[in-house]
Amino acid sequence: MRQIKKIIIHCTTSSDDKNAEYHIIIHKDGSCQNNIPESNIAKHLKDHNRNSIGIAWVGPGEITLEQKKTLDSTIRRILKIYDISINDIYGHYELCTGKTCPNLDMDGLRKSIRTEEYLPDGPSDDEIEISLIDIENQVLGED
Ligand SMILES: [Zn+2]
Repeated sequence: MRQIKKIIIHCTTSSDDKNAEYHIIIHKDGSCQNNIPESNIAKHLKDHNRNSIGIAWVGPGEITLEQKKTLDSTIRRILKIYDISINDIYGHYELCTGKTCPNLDMDGLRKSIRTEEYLPDGPSDDEIEISLIDIENQVLGED
């Protein structure tokens, strides 16, 4: 299995970016499309594809509140599963000069992930922790 070490955020519209591949696409209504399995390499940013997961929110226009919530919970899930640091969340423009994609304030986004202000509907860290322990116990119990 490939090692996943970072998350790269993009934005996309239906008209451009036709050749880009994103693992996860977040639509205007906040629905989340698992476009490519995370275990597979997707071509979303040259030189960074091998060890990253690419997430794109769908434009045009501003990101919607629903998209922000889904983006936030999706990032949290990936951080937990792959043991990635908040500092390994990048916006496309941070890795590639001359770009504005994903047109988000990445410092603000990382801060919101850190402070947990953003996720009114998602499970708390404690709840996630408990379910992970449950899974571990089940796995151990089978042996
Ligand atoms: Zn991009």
